[in-house]
Amino acid sequence: MCNVLKLKITKTDKVCGIGEHAGPKLQNEGKIPVLSCEGGCIKGEIARLAANMVAKEDRYARACHGALFSTPHSAIAEWIREADQVVVIDGCFLHCHGRIAEHIIDRDKLVTVDALSVHKKYANLMDVDDVPAAERQQTARELAEKVLAHLDENRSYALERHGSCGCGKELPAQTKCAA
Ligand code: SF4
Repeated sequence: MCNVLKLKITKTDKVCGIGEHAGPKLQNEGKIPVLSCEGGCIKGEIARLAANMVAKEDRYARACHGALFSTPHSAIAEWIREADQVVVIDGCFLHCHGRIAEHIIDRDKLVTVDALSVHKKYANLMDVDDVPAAERQQTARELAEKVLAHLDENRSYALERHGSCGCGKELPAQTKCAA
């Protein structure tokens, strides 16, 4: 059985103007939302860059985890919740964003990626600037290509959501929460 942490979020009735415009458009176009870890370390940065790259492909569009988690009344949140599939690229095996998203989005629609287990780099680095900008882009590009290839092959599956130790195994097989 999964344990659950509770997080309080201060309510707001505000919405993001561009999000209200983009949400219905992306929903009508059937775009698949792409979310990512945006943690402050290099692993989060690689995930963020790769998510931006995946989102440039035709079927996908970049989505905002802030809106999904904290403004459920927003058009962007509705687009993400109602999408046929949602991709979450987490920076590492902790799956910070995937573990929140799976309580908002139907788990069968979630595709979550442990980026570290795919690129197998920077496990012991924190600062983004420890890796030159060109190398960050290259690593993110390689990650994005692997994610896209896997998505193309298996549209309705989930990559590993839990349990990777970052030991460097290739994209792992589907696992299901026992809860
Ligand atoms: S997923 Fe990993 S890299 Fe991203 S914020 Fe969480 S702990 Fe940091």
